[in-house]
Amino acid sequence: MDLKITCIPGDGIGPEIVAEAKKVLDAVAEKYGHVMHYTDILMGGASIDAYGVPLTAEAVAAAKSADAVLMGSIGGDTTTSPWYKLPPDRRPEAGLLAIRKELNLFANLRPAVLYGELRGACPLKEEISAAGFDMLIMRELTGGLYFGERRTTEENGVRKAVDTLVYDENEIRRIAVKGFDIAMKRRKKVTSVDKANVLDSSRLWRSVVEEVAKDYPEVTLEHMLVDNCAMQLVKDPAQFDVILTENMFGDILSDEASMVTGSIGMLASASLNDTKFGLYEPSHGSAPDIAGQDIANPIATVLSAAMMLRYSFDLDREADAIEDAVRQVLKEGYRTGDIMSEGCIRTGCKQMGDLLAERIR
Ligand code: NAD
Repeated sequence: MDLKITCIPGDGIGPEIVAEAKKVLDAVAEKYGHVMHYTDILMGGASIDAYGVPLTAEAVAAAKSADAVLMGSIGGDTTTSPWYKLPPDRRPEAGLLAIRKELNLFANLRPAVLYGELRGACPLKEEISAAGFDMLIMRELTGGLYFGERRTTEENGVRKAVDTLVYDENEIRRIAVKGFDIAMKRRKKVTSVDKANVLDSSRLWRSVVEEVAKDYPEVTLEHMLVDNCAMQLVKDPAQFDVILTENMFGDILSDEASMVTGSIGMLASASLNDTKFGLYEPSHGSAPDIAGQDIANPIATVLSAAMMLRYSFDLDREADAIEDAVRQVLKEGYRTGDIMSEGCIRTGCKQMGDLLAERIR
């Protein structure tokens, strides 16, 4: 299969971790007979330095012409970098917001997996972490409270602020379909999270999700109130497979789920539109404090590349091979600095990429 991939190395550790993800993808291509066609584009600080803007029209066109986009991370040190002296719409992050909008990415996926070998980093009690967990949070990304009308007024000397939370049934249906499709590739369970005891938008959410569920008889659907979900994530995270939720609830719950893994360098993510197209990137930032030292953990980016193979190209066997390689290398005791523990073998960014590529071959 020919895979057309646009890469955004970005800033900070971005170029280092994307190079390792490409190394691993090349090993997959070699083993399973695929051809990778990469086009690199600039975004964020690198694009500001080259073109004066965080994202050019040419870069957007290159991203749109690919089957998927693989990104490192963008941005610099927000207190010292000259990029943060620019007006907000010219700063590195403006490039990210613009590309998400241009590509119509409405579904955000954040897996939170606790690897047996990294259980020590999990902040939960051992009797909870012992069960492990492997969940995926599917968050609606372009609607709800963050995109509704807002205003601040003053009446009789009293300031008043209003935000509005709006969803129509089509916005809910398209994210629900994505959630159920992805559950079919996993353990076939969807937990739809809402606040249907209080909010009209949640009651609509719940009824549309139930309509969509009828097309997926193999998937078990349960509903959970968001406050209960926040508790269950730390009490019994093993119960979750796919958590399907709206924008603000997903924003908060996905950070909570990430934190309970305890390992920021291991967390992948994807943002999808209504075709097979997606933008895949690690959940962490550009880590300017460790850039250029060959010590960053490339695994989150490598796992994002595995998600790309699974969700944009339907190459499940190849995605499994990458995830198995990560488990294998961890089992053999190799660790980058951020996940290092006693008795393990410290590796750099490049060596971690080499090890993963070797295990795939
Ligand atoms: P960060 O995630 O970059 O770093 C937080 C801490 O985690 C740092 O100590 C860093 O060294 C460490 N870390 C992060 N990723 C690591 C990895 N792969 N291996 C080893 N250690 C790792 O968060 P921050 O410092 O708040 O942000 C730095 C820059 O990244 C800012 O400009 C911010 O705006 C940007 N950012 C970009 C994105 C994105 O591109 N999607 C996301 C978050 C932050």
